[in-house]
Amino acid sequence: MTEQERRPRIGVLALQGAVRPHVEAIRAVGADPVEVRLPRDLVALDGLILPGGESTTMRKLIDIYGLREPIASLARGGTPLLGTCAGMILLAERIADGDEPVFPLLDIEVRRNGYGRQLDSFEADLDVPELGPEPLHGVFIRAPFVTDVGPAAEVLARDPDGTPVAIRQGRVLATAFHPELTDDRRLHGLLLQLVGRGAGNPA
Ligand code: GLN
Repeated sequence: MTEQERRPRIGVLALQGAVRPHVEAIRAVGADPVEVRLPRDLVALDGLILPGGESTTMRKLIDIYGLREPIASLARGGTPLLGTCAGMILLAERIADGDEPVFPLLDIEVRRNGYGRQLDSFEADLDVPELGPEPLHGVFIRAPFVTDVGPAAEVLARDPDGTPVAIRQGRVLATAFHPELTDDRRLHGLLLQLVGRGAGNPA
């Protein structure tokens, strides 16, 4: 099959939250976006994005629509995932202050809304060596604060105070900020690179 016939299909969990900008970012990097609301929408996806929004609402809707096991199974099969903001919370193995993990795929602990009131929302230029020398502009909106990174997870970027804000573990990526809210598509490009490496190869 040629490249032309088979563009990567990247799902965006579309239960709630910042779905549309991810859909546009996926198109911009030359892949086909698929809005995911039901388990059948996960069929034949090459990657999946868990967007920002409200993680408590999303976790409820994930269970109501029966998406928890199918998404976990996709991840077990090696399909790359990207979680942004609330999506990062959904991917964390540990959530400070009691919440149960949803898809415990990243060896990190996060605290919801952990930047506190003063810094509820802010923007910062981030150094992300993986994406090249140009800084990545990070938009943080009631972002999770990464309170711990275990040995299995790799820090791709830190905020100006040194707190990790972008994480990779195997084929799973997560950012505390919203890469879909700027015109810089390099993070979505990185997700596509993971797709390109294909299931079955070590990440
Ligand atoms: N504060 C939200 C939560 O805890 C995340 C915010 C976001 O995704 N922009 O779920």
